[in-house]
Parts: sequence; C-alpha cells; structure tokens
Amino acid sequence: MKGKNSPIKITVIITLVIIALIVAIVVLTNNGTGKDTTTGNQPSIEGQPVMGEEDAPVTIVEFGDFKCPACKAWGEQYFPQIKQDYIDTGKAKFAYINVLFHGEESKLGSLAAESVWAQNPEAYWDFHKQLFAQQPAEDHDTKWLTMDTITKIADNMEEIDGEQLKEDIENNTHLDAVNKDTELVTEHKVELTPSIMVNDKMIEDPFDYAAIQAAIEQELEGN
Ligand code: CA
Repeated sequence: MKGKNSPIKITVIITLVIIALIVAIVVLTNNGTGKDTTTGNQPSIEGQPVMGEEDAPVTIVEFGDFKCPACKAWGEQYFPQIKQDYIDTGKAKFAYINVLFHGEESKLGSLAAESVWAQNPEAYWDFHKQLFAQQPAEDHDTKWLTMDTITKIADNMEEIDGEQLKEDIENNTHLDAVNKDTELVTEHKVELTPSIMVNDKMIEDPFDYAAIQAAIEQELEGN
C-alpha cells in the first residue's frame, strides 16, 4: 500500500514542477528575445533609392530627414564605414526613406530628392550627399533647405536637368513617393531620425557601430 507521500509520487510531482518551470522559462525567454529590436516586418524598398547590389543578402534602411543634424552626422561619419565594409563588398544594399519631422523644409528636400531619383537614379546619391552638406553645422534651425539651395546643387551637377527638377518640385510630381515614405515611417513606428534597420531589426542606437555590425553579421550568418 503506497502512502500519500510515497517517494514515487514525490518524484513525479517534482518532475512535473521542473517541467512546468522549464516551459515557463522558455516561453518568457522567447517573448523577451529581440522583442525590442525585431519588428518581424522588413520595410519594403520598392521604388526607393537603393545603393549596392540588388541581390545583396542584407538590406539596410535609413529613415532620415535632410533637415536633421543627427542624420547629417550619421551620413558623414558612420555611413562611409558601412559602405566600405558591407555595400562595396556586396554583402548589403542600402535604401533611404524620407522622414518629414521638420516641416516644409523636410518636405521640399524629400520632393527634390524623389524628383532627382525619378529623373536620373545615377545622380541621386551625389545629390543626397550634397544636400546634407548644405545643412549648416551650427544653427541648423535656420531656414536653409530652400529652392535656391536645391537649384545651386543641381546647377553644379551635369547629370541633373535643373529645369525639369524645378518643374517637378513646383508641380508636386513625385509627391506620391514622399507620401509612400511617410506611410513606411508610420508602419515602422519611426520616432527618431536617423532610424536604421538591418533587414527586420531596428537598431536601438544608430551611433553604435558595433551594434550595426553585429546585426549585419547575424543576418549574413542566417543566409
Ligand atoms: Ca522614397
């Protein structure tokens, strides 16, 4: 006759408790892992300016604003390293999506950039870089992103038809592309610029190069 507290019964109970604990830990861990950084939803880069090889296994997306000082800093100080390490080596491609957090000037810069992209994709990245270069290092709140600034850049670039560009901006020809970017900003809950995504992972601190590197390497290993 087995008593209430037979060793077998106690062993079974202990085993069940341990299994329940393990299950709880696994569930909690899975819920926690990467939850901060993974949206599980990679931004569509269809129609976006893309730098690098089309079949590169990793896609890096910058949500940026031409009026944003941190975006200028990121582009000038961090992007060249990413380009050298990953884009030029065919491991990653890079797309830029406009964010309009600074009002009319952001919108004008975005419209201009989208118009250049539509007119001549070959000219896009140079224009992009030159527009950021025009952002004053100090007093960036001053109104600088104007039609004059855009015209000045375009006039110095043979690859751009300045008249066409002006017309496209004035007629809002590529406003749909700007609006599409705004939808992506909402979809991916972008609240700060720049925001950097590596495939479906949002990088918490875009100024942490090691973190970007680790995310890219992780995605490369997964491929
Ligand atoms: Ca766009």
